[in-house]
Amino acid sequence: MINKLCIIGVGLIGGSLARALKAANFVTHITAVGRDVEHLKRAVELGVADSYETTISAAASDADVIVVAVPVGSMKPIFSELSGIVKEGAVITDVGSVKGNIVRDARAALGDKLSRFVPGHPIAGTEKSGVEASFAELYSGQRVILTPLEETDALATKMITQMWHAAGADVVSLSVEHHDEVLAATSHLPHALAYTLVDTLAQMHEHREIFQFAAGGFKDFTRIASSDPKMWHDICLNNRDALLEMLNRFSSDITQLATAIENEDSESILKLFTRAKSARDQNC
Ligand code: NAP
Repeated sequence: MINKLCIIGVGLIGGSLARALKAANFVTHITAVGRDVEHLKRAVELGVADSYETTISAAASDADVIVVAVPVGSMKPIFSELSGIVKEGAVITDVGSVKGNIVRDARAALGDKLSRFVPGHPIAGTEKSGVEASFAELYSGQRVILTPLEETDALATKMITQMWHAAGADVVSLSVEHHDEVLAATSHLPHALAYTLVDTLAQMHEHREIFQFAAGGFKDFTRIASSDPKMWHDICLNNRDALLEMLNRFSSDITQLATAIENEDSESILKLFTRAKSARDQNC
């Protein structure tokens, strides 16, 4: 149970966590803070937060748990501010889709509060943004990855694990490096491909006609290209090395497919498609 929870960035991810914890009666009071007061007012109107503040110090100084749910590239100054104001024993966590750079920023900014910081990442989301898009069931049955550090206090990790369980999620632990490699492959590469595919088509001058003929498969494959560009810009640059490795690997595989098509090499094409179908049917 959390007495006072502070959510910094009450959008899709922070707002859905707030809704889920309220539905589970796991929190007594939620305070939201962000840049735009209209978004904060809306969070209170929707019942996502109980109150809002316009400064981090007013929102977080008496909180028991602070969740940083802003874009990955905006976290460092927030950590710096938190380091000077959080109360003794408070736990800080984040929800960022990349862990290496966030942990680097936390190490540089959190000072003696680092041991109370539990890096986290819910593997759940939609292509929508903002508090209006948040819903209580987002995390139900989904995974949350925690990447606690050597310095992380075990009780802080326990608190954040309990919080995510209350939100309906399963919690797993990974190292920071392994998290970033796995997510580069399963999330960051697919987003980069979806954005690029839609952009390739959009730049063809007959694109209006092309999009008219886009059927279910195209829409399924490219849904995530409607995600917030700023958020994904931050994620790509903050997981640069792992994502570049995946992009290079993918470029080599797609070039092989192009060669097989050019050479009418049925055997290679069928082998690739059969391998992929079997992997997807077994694992997804
Ligand atoms: P979102 O819906 O756009 O929400 C972001 C929130 O952060 C908004 O409330 C925004 O409100 C606030 N914000 C933005 N910049 C800020 C700043 N500099 N200082 C304070 N508040 C700021 O985005 P989201 O999808 O919830 O993503 C939030 C985090 O979750 C990101 O780190 C992302 O990597 C991670 N994540 C996203 C997904 C996903 O599928 N969407 C999944 C897992 C994890 P104002 O504009 O009013 O400030």
